[in-house]
Amino acid sequence: SDKSNITGVYVDHITMRQALRQLRIFLEEGGVHTIFTPNAEIMMDAHTDHSLKSILNGSDMVIADGAGVVLASKILGVSLPEKVSGIDLVRNSFSISMNPKIRYFLFGSKPGVAEQAAKNILLRYPDVEIAGCRNGYFREEDNEAIIDEINSSNADILLVALGAPKQEKWIYSNKSSLKVKVCIGVGGSLDVFAG
Ligand code: UDP
Repeated sequence: SDKSNITGVYVDHITMRQALRQLRIFLEEGGVHTIFTPNAEIMMDAHTDHSLKSILNGSDMVIADGAGVVLASKILGVSLPEKVSGIDLVRNSFSISMNPKIRYFLFGSKPGVAEQAAKNILLRYPDVEIAGCRNGYFREEDNEAIIDEINSSNADILLVALGAPKQEKWIYSNKSSLKVKVCIGVGGSLDVFAG
């Protein structure tokens, strides 16, 4: 889709409906896709953090999380059609009905949070399967075991909730080892689903 340059970060010029359609295409295609959902603060950070900027610009979809980004786009004269936040995209994705069901792995947040989020999601969204959960506090030497756990779970979508920019950098560094179809950086969303 079209992209709008917002202070150096190329944000997809899409509505929620189009983002969901694109997500479905990613699930049907081969390969690992990445979706990032930077808010205004992270967009500012990307201005000085060039590795973050190139990670965002090298991803398959960047959506504007927060009214601040949509407002900035208006000021810059590249009006984004609407705010598509990461949490809303993920929430709406739980209602995408596919056969077999979409399998999610919930990675990140404090111990117990992903499991509680999984329970709440399963109660509310019958079209979802949870492939696994793993908290977001680990040492570098645990990383390989985490990748193995995610890959052997056969997850389709990996939700990475390590906070920004940690989750963006983790996804970028580990993309080539992952077998999931889509990785999404989701910030504090697992805390919200668990709450
Ligand atoms: N988090 C994590 N590992 C870390 C640091 C943070 O799993 O090493 C989790 C934290 O528990 C929270 C999430 O990342 O669930 C988002 O954190 P924060 O609200 O600070 O980030 P933001 O939403 O601003 O990106």
